[in-house]
Amino acid sequence: MQHVPSFQVVEGQLQGARQVPSPNFNARPTDQEIQLLVIHNISLPPSQFGGGYIEQFFQNQMDWSQHPYFQTIQGLQVSAHLLILRTGEVLQFVNFADRAWHAGRSSYLAQPECNDYSIGIELEGSDDLPFETAQYQSLVQVVHSLQQAYPSIQQHIAGHSDIAPGRKTDPGPYFDWQYFREQLSQLKASTSQEKLINQ
Ligand SMILES: [Zn+2]
Repeated sequence: MQHVPSFQVVEGQLQGARQVPSPNFNARPTDQEIQLLVIHNISLPPSQFGGGYIEQFFQNQMDWSQHPYFQTIQGLQVSAHLLILRTGEVLQFVNFADRAWHAGRSSYLAQPECNDYSIGIELEGSDDLPFETAQYQSLVQVVHSLQQAYPSIQQHIAGHSDIAPGRKTDPGPYFDWQYFREQLSQLKASTSQEKLINQ
């Protein structure tokens, strides 16, 4: 039986994700290869889930008067390529070929400006609450699809806190790196097994 992936990258778009275009992007440097995946968490207001505020924020459509916290981020223009909601639903804001504005001042393996060469994935969450199983399931499938499309990121997955230490803390202590990596390895192993059987 043919393995049908839930997600697939086609021309910089993730098939299987809901497309929610953000104006907050620009071009990557010419001939810049995608080399890194950055995992974040975000919730608006902090530690509150649902409500659609993250989408509004990334689309510059936020009504800043809706919550006092929003006034502290008023006017910020940011984005990520992907957002994984608490339900596991995946939203895409920026084409992978373009440069999303998620990392800020950052460096990875002595290479500055991670936005130039990375894909940013936000998990709806916070530094003080566990993530949902559905989010890990989606994340693992999405990362697997991305690694097939952009092989250079196979060995390069970092948290925002890793590339901007002292400035950023996300995805935070509740992001279970070990569980994530185990699930990803299992998916990779089962996919390559199916390929063998199908040959
Ligand atoms: Zn972040």
